[in-house]
Amino acid sequence: MSGLYQSAFRGYLIDHHSPAPPAVTLEHLDIAEYRSFFRTAGISSLMLYCKDHWGYSYYDTDIGTQHPALKQDWVAAVSKVLREESIELNAYYCLEYDSLAPDIHPEWSILDAKGGPVSLKGRMAKWGMPCYETGYREYVLGQLAEIVRNYHPDSLFLDIFGKSLCYCPACRAKFQEKFGYRDVARMEPYLTGRKLVAEVAILQSDRSSAAKAGNRVVMNAIGRCKQSDPHREAMRRRSKAGPCGFHQRSFG
Ligand SMILES: [Zn+2]
Repeated sequence: MSGLYQSAFRGYLIDHHSPAPPAVTLEHLDIAEYRSFFRTAGISSLMLYCKDHWGYSYYDTDIGTQHPALKQDWVAAVSKVLREESIELNAYYCLEYDSLAPDIHPEWSILDAKGGPVSLKGRMAKWGMPCYETGYREYVLGQLAEIVRNYHPDSLFLDIFGKSLCYCPACRAKFQEKFGYRDVARMEPYLTGRKLVAEVAILQSDRSSAAKAGNRVVMNAIGRCKQSDPHREAMRRRSKAGPCGFHQRSFG
């Protein structure tokens, strides 16, 4: 396991939620400029985008879609510099916001109680929301395996997970299997907590590729658990996945 995270004291994030051209052309990306910047800033950790809210990947992926403006494997180029400069590579990967995934696979979309796709509101409305219980799950795990295998990040930063209720067939079936409720009206109070404890447990159990590489995993903006009734305790005991109500958690 990389121990860089234990000594990293100055981190930096270069935000890359970049839409396709002509909005963003990425023509000014310059790896030499990046190296110079890293040295000037004296950073010891960099959060590097591997997949953004649009669903675009910033590396050569066999599974996903590389950003259409990118003319090189940007993660490869930056991670090489980071290794040479002894800077921690914290690989950023967005889970729940992904415009491409539900666009290409409508059956992967998070659905509301009436069966319609859930969309974000306001300035966030441009980003789609795929459900982790669908085929998107294999897509995500496949890409994370690519990133770990090809770039050996010191840690993974998984952004946004289980924030939204989902009533897709897979979630309904899983909920009924786990808690025995068919009625939609009774499902709603439990779904957020279910996603929190059950899906985090799934990811934990499925992080074998990351574990083999010795990665630290941080999950950001995990869903909220609002209910405070006896069913919450029952759900917690059934899931055996620990307490709910946290916002961010790391798995060693
Ligand atoms: Zn779902």
